[in-house]
Amino acid sequence: MFVGVMVACHERSLIDPDLFPAALAINIEGLPNGADADVRISGPSGFSRTLTSSDFIAPVVSGRYSLRIGDVRSGGFTYAASPAQIDITVQPGDTLRYRVRFEVATGALAVQISGLPGGVPASVRINGNGLSRVANGSVIFGDLPPGAYTVTVDSLNAGGTAFKGTSPAQVTVTASLIPSSLAVAYSNVQGVVLFSATGLPAGTTPLPIESRPVARMQGPLQVDRLVGFGELLALPVGNYTISPQPVTIGTRLFTPTARSLTRTINSPVRDTIAIAFQEVTTPINLTIDNVVVTQAVQRADNGIPLVIGRDALLRAFVRADRRTTLRPLARARIYDGTTAIATLLLTPPDSGVPTVPVDAALGTTYRTRIPAELVRAQLRVSVEVDPDSTLGESQRSDNFWPTGGQPRPITATTVPTFAVRFVPISLNGAMGDITAAAQERYLAVARTLWPIAQVTSDVRAAFTSAAPALHPTDANGGWNTLLNELRALKTLDGAPATTHYYGVVHPSYAEGMFGLALVGTPVAVGWDRRDVGTIAAHEWGHNFGRTHAPCGDAPNVDGNYPHIGAAIGLVGWNSANDALQPANTPDIMSYCTPAWVSEYSYTRALTFRQGTIAGTSARPVTAVTGDGLLVWGRVVSGRLIVEPAFRVTAPITTPSATPTHVVELMGATGQVLVRFPFEAERVSDESPRRGATSDLQFAVVIPWSTTVDSAIASIRVQDTRSPLVSVVRRRAANSPMALLQDMRTGAARGFIRGTDITSSAHNTAQQESKYRTRGLRVLWSDGVRSQGTPDH
Ligand SMILES: [Zn+2]
Repeated sequence: MFVGVMVACHERSLIDPDLFPAALAINIEGLPNGADADVRISGPSGFSRTLTSSDFIAPVVSGRYSLRIGDVRSGGFTYAASPAQIDITVQPGDTLRYRVRFEVATGALAVQISGLPGGVPASVRINGNGLSRVANGSVIFGDLPPGAYTVTVDSLNAGGTAFKGTSPAQVTVTASLIPSSLAVAYSNVQGVVLFSATGLPAGTTPLPIESRPVARMQGPLQVDRLVGFGELLALPVGNYTISPQPVTIGTRLFTPTARSLTRTINSPVRDTIAIAFQEVTTPINLTIDNVVVTQAVQRADNGIPLVIGRDALLRAFVRADRRTTLRPLARARIYDGTTAIATLLLTPPDSGVPTVPVDAALGTTYRTRIPAELVRAQLRVSVEVDPDSTLGESQRSDNFWPTGGQPRPITATTVPTFAVRFVPISLNGAMGDITAAAQERYLAVARTLWPIAQVTSDVRAAFTSAAPALHPTDANGGWNTLLNELRALKTLDGAPATTHYYGVVHPSYAEGMFGLALVGTPVAVGWDRRDVGTIAAHEWGHNFGRTHAPCGDAPNVDGNYPHIGAAIGLVGWNSANDALQPANTPDIMSYCTPAWVSEYSYTRALTFRQGTIAGTSARPVTAVTGDGLLVWGRVVSGRLIVEPAFRVTAPITTPSATPTHVVELMGATGQVLVRFPFEAERVSDESPRRGATSDLQFAVVIPWSTTVDSAIASIRVQDTRSPLVSVVRRRAANSPMALLQDMRTGAARGFIRGTDITSSAHNTAQQESKYRTRGLRVLWSDGVRSQGTPDH
């Protein structure tokens, strides 16, 4: 027993984990997130543990431990720790801390391949360090042992063309997460070819550039180009079709004996291709294919009438039967009926008479401007090229237009004077910028683009609007209200029906709605901020009866507009800068810019201006000026609004035979005193609520009488097409609105309403006094009429 005790005591003195526990703290670093380590730990008493991440192991017995650290593969790279194996001793009672630090042990190689046609695989081999990789395109190879690799780029053949590639012979990959790079550039293998010509006159080489023979080359790699003779050409190897072109030297024409031949171009042999030419002994021939006379837009058959008394562009489409730099004379004769009134020399095509004159390129045609005074009702035109026969053409009959040389009538028509009265609008404390000197800025575009010849314009006395401040999307109806006021103003002024009232405003914003017009009635408003000429031309287009062409999300689009994207469809001409307008230019009646005018818009505007479309502008105003009642208002998204009426002295409106609405002046018991049918007018740019008809406006002067004067109590306006749609305005105790009148002339000078006026006698007197100092009389309306007798 004693011995046994001694042994027990001896053993206890060596190790006692319970009395002296030890611990292992293994910290693993340097691996990407999510990558597991492989750290195997073995130790005394059969201890064995595998760690995938940092760990604290306790208690362990003290003694010698061995760590074996395996490589880790993650994300295309190998990570290794150094050393990969270590033995460590843990003392009793101690905590051994050991840091396993991984580092990336392999690298990557980014191979960038360029110069091959799409779909053609590359062939790049990379060898070394016991590995072999093949790149068929740009690629990144990962997990490569560091070191030098040899690069082999194989030549290849694609569609009959050889390609060879260049790259460094060696590339070194380092252990890094950032790839080393290898650029491989392929290029097609080229052959060198020289063209030569036989059969051309001796001593003519070197030829001037424009007379040098050329051939069209079509071959591999989409080669399709004109090449000049006498120059060394490097071209991709492969099969070619060669189409030599005729050569003109002076007026002598040489044509190749073979129109087309095929050849294979090889490398690296320098090839010579000789083309035989022979002279065509007939002299050059010019032909006038067509003559077009345009003022803004024209068809090839001159079917769009000219406007008498306005500049026109004459273009003669003359073609040569061969390439030439000759620019012979051409002249046009202008007739008034049978009387020749002018001979005009044409500007020849810029680079010689072309083989194909191009409609869209002014410089490829003969042209001249026909001054306005020569554009007359009986306009007739003839054109002759090389009238003095300097070219010795054997065929002369095609030098005339029209064939036979008898002058051809070009339809020219009279349009009424375009009369504009600009109205400076004061609104929300800002005045529209329109002065006598500024008028031309507003008129300039319309002059060039619409069927307009004579223009008269003036600037009316300013008009104070009672409309709400203008909003970029007209959310508050300010534009609509303003237009309605201007419509009423035109009625009050008794201006001729064909006079365009154009109100100019200065909104507080710089982007957003810039104009509004009546369709088919010459009343519009536009801003003064920018593009004022283009905007005025657009709004006047509405006045000419046009709705929108389909571009730029314009509302109220004309479904009959013939070209997609509102394209004008024909080449236009701007007389202001003598520039052609491409056929894909959007129409002025669209919301897209820069704009020009289409045949569709131009001819309809012309018909409208000439008064053959039944429209309000064609409706006469009676000459009778007398006592009347101004009844005005509008339809907004199907809702009728009748503004307060005013007793005025103005031309009495003629009742409509094709009414859309009827006004009834009614007595206290609802008896109808006067019934007055009228036709409301469409608004251009407003977008009515879904299901509602177009927005409309009206302003009419109804005859006044003593009977009406003593009995009127309300005004009813009713839609004749849907009689349930009606609105009644009753006589009010206060004054919802007032008309400002010039004390001296009686002319209307503005409206005031809402918070600006009140029924209180004090404020009324204050208002009257305020405006009196400005020479204005305030005419109060109780809704159905104004008080007192209007001056005029
Ligand atoms: Zn518009």
